[in-house]
Amino acid sequence: MVNRQIIIVRLLLLLLVIGCHYTPQAQSAPRLVVGITVDQMRWDYLTRFKNRWHETGGFNRMLKGGFSCNNTQINYLPSYTACGHASIYTGTVPAIHGITGNNWWDNEKQEYVYCTEDDSVKTVGSKTDYGLMSPVNLLTTTICDELKLAHNFRNKTIGIALKDRGGILATGHNANAAYWYDGESGQWITSSYYMNELPSWVKGFNTPAKVDSLYKLDWHLLYPAETYTQSMYDKKGVNVKPFGSTPNKFPYRIKKNAGENYSIIAATPHGNTLTTEFAKAAVLGEQLGADSIPDFLAISYSSPDYIGHAHGPNSIEVEDTYLRLDRELGAFFDFLDKQAGIGNWMVFLTSDHGVAHVPGFMKANKMPAGFIDDKKLGDQLSEALKQQFGVDNLIRGIVNAQVIFNVDLIKKTKKLGQSDVADFVISWLEKQEGISRAFRFEGIKQAPLPDYFANQLVNSYYPQRCGQIAILYKSGYIEGFATGGSTHGSGYKYDTHIPLLWYGWHIKPGQSQRKIYISDIAPTLAALLNIQEPSGSIGEVILELFN
Ligand code: ZN
Ligand code: ZN
Repeated sequence: MVNRQIIIVRLLLLLLVIGCHYTPQAQSAPRLVVGITVDQMRWDYLTRFKNRWHETGGFNRMLKGGFSCNNTQINYLPSYTACGHASIYTGTVPAIHGITGNNWWDNEKQEYVYCTEDDSVKTVGSKTDYGLMSPVNLLTTTICDELKLAHNFRNKTIGIALKDRGGILATGHNANAAYWYDGESGQWITSSYYMNELPSWVKGFNTPAKVDSLYKLDWHLLYPAETYTQSMYDKKGVNVKPFGSTPNKFPYRIKKNAGENYSIIAATPHGNTLTTEFAKAAVLGEQLGADSIPDFLAISYSSPDYIGHAHGPNSIEVEDTYLRLDRELGAFFDFLDKQAGIGNWMVFLTSDHGVAHVPGFMKANKMPAGFIDDKKLGDQLSEALKQQFGVDNLIRGIVNAQVIFNVDLIKKTKKLGQSDVADFVISWLEKQEGISRAFRFEGIKQAPLPDYFANQLVNSYYPQRCGQIAILYKSGYIEGFATGGSTHGSGYKYDTHIPLLWYGWHIKPGQSQRKIYISDIAPTLAALLNIQEPSGSIGEVILELFN
């Protein structure tokens, strides 16, 4: 009896010793994947402001401790928000995922369509129509969809952005939720596509006091003005007034908007703060990263886009926005370390597109630039077609730098073929200010055009949601914004060169100068997570991350 007890005690001791020396295998998957899209972030901000990143800031942490793909390019047109978010998360291009713009002319429905509009659903969380949205127009799966399929829907995927399309197109079809900001009510909302009632953590977050308290801070520069040596205080050639009658310079007195105007927060760095705070609430409220089945949190920071449009990429406002975002991301990463555990979560940070310099600024510095008014150009082209063929309304307009033919009318006009119209449209367009060339989408591969640009056009073309003629503007020429400001949308490097940083779980420090594409992000995530890539993926795995 005593012997038996001794044996049992020894066995227990042995198990204890083995237990103490047992180190678990490194986790085969992160508990939480965070995708961060910074709307309108040019790659060169990483280097331009590199001396300004804070020691514990997010950009510094990712640049020093993570992997940077320094030559990541957008490989389609137009370089707009909806196409960018869809392409990052589906690993493919508009020709396949079908998101051919923020808006497009739908040749089947015979109407203009907004990328995430869906009249069959209802707003959840406010009384406005801002919630009539879903991913129904997205034609392929996203990496978030695949992560759900891989784990039999036992995990959570959540999308967050001030802009509806920033969260919806990222998370895809079977997300637990996408949340976006209703600028009329000042509430984070969703649609009945995802749920019929907001969870209690969202209701708890949705108090007007939150936005008001951010307004009360006004917008002051983070550091003394003279330290902003990489940007301009002076606003030559920029006349946009993002806050109405408030003078367009620091400090921006926005206090008065408290309780009055909930939308203008998006045009200040406080919009980023609101987004981060909401993301933290989501992590806590949904227990993201709490167990070993990977969850996915897709965050898009929309405010840098609004700020960049209004002030241009060389403005002190843009520099200040990124210095603030750097600090905020650092604090957010500390929060994730605490919630999911150091090394148990990973993040990638990229952008949906860059932005052109303000044409006035470029001209003042002797570089080619100008404005194109698409609406006016379309009207003038329509008039020229009428003069030529004697028929009114042969085109519907110019959208996404494409001429949309009135196909039914051309068919009805027996004496006229589509190729007659196309020939005239191309020769007319090529005589206009700011236009380099124009091409038929059909047969684009035979066009005398460098492969880089020809491939962008091929990758853009989903016939049901595209026009017949693609217009290539000259470098530096941007659409609209005749009173100043800037925009994006082209295939030139200022719009297509985006950052791509990886950090955290299993990511070793390093960098690559190899040219990779936005559509490589999702298949690389699939390889890291050991899951199937999204259905329409055309990208390649970034092998450098596995070396
Ligand atoms: Zn965007
Ligand atoms: Zn934009």
